[in-house]
Amino acid sequence: MKRKVLIVEDEAHIGIGIKYNCEAEGFDATLVGDGPSALQLFADNPHAFDALILDIMLPDMSGYTVLERLREQGIDVPVLILSARTLTEDKVRGFDAGADQYLTKPFELPELISRVKNLVKRQPNAATPDNSGPEQFQFGDVSIDFVRHEVTVRGKLVELTTKELDLVRFFVSREGEVLSRNDLLDNVWGVDSSPQTRTVDNFIVRLRRHFETDPANPQHFLSVRGVGYRFVAEPGIDNDTDAEDG
Ligand code: CA
Repeated sequence: MKRKVLIVEDEAHIGIGIKYNCEAEGFDATLVGDGPSALQLFADNPHAFDALILDIMLPDMSGYTVLERLREQGIDVPVLILSARTLTEDKVRGFDAGADQYLTKPFELPELISRVKNLVKRQPNAATPDNSGPEQFQFGDVSIDFVRHEVTVRGKLVELTTKELDLVRFFVSREGEVLSRNDLLDNVWGVDSSPQTRTVDNFIVRLRRHFETDPANPQHFLSVRGVGYRFVAEPGIDNDTDAEDG
């Protein structure tokens, strides 16, 4: 079955070029020119697409807003942001809004296609699922079903983005180990993506907000000063880590 990709791009020649190349790679590609059209397609069917290629500079509604609306609705389609902007703040804003990949214009089409393939591969319901780590995991008041993409904290359902869940899955699979920011970037974001190490820190802040009883005094997602982070499922069993945040 063909994997479905939605392209949101208002510059027709760029959009048509991307669509053509996606189709040449065997994807079923749909092109729309503005954010509301994209949101309407997801409103019709939240699972209609396996990946979303989203331009940031769109008329009326920016790509950031489109992405934020989708994530608010719990739609966790993998997203590649396209932007002419190169400022780090813009990139961070994209990741904070829930983007999985970020590509700066002008880009080479083979690079774009490689990223899209990467995104589709990461889909939890893809033909070749990532089976590293357990299917279910519990720690503290948190219960995670990685297969069903369901997370509850103190009995309440919590919405995580695909990338947040990928990060948790990696921490769980390497429980107790000290992981550098580069370990996390390589394994969770992929070697061909280009997020900053600060992105890791931003994601840790988000995981703590989701999971820690007191995010300022984390018990599970610990900072290891000068190195990176360590996930501890049962705090108190061992406490040789410098858990000071910073
Ligand atoms: Ca544009």
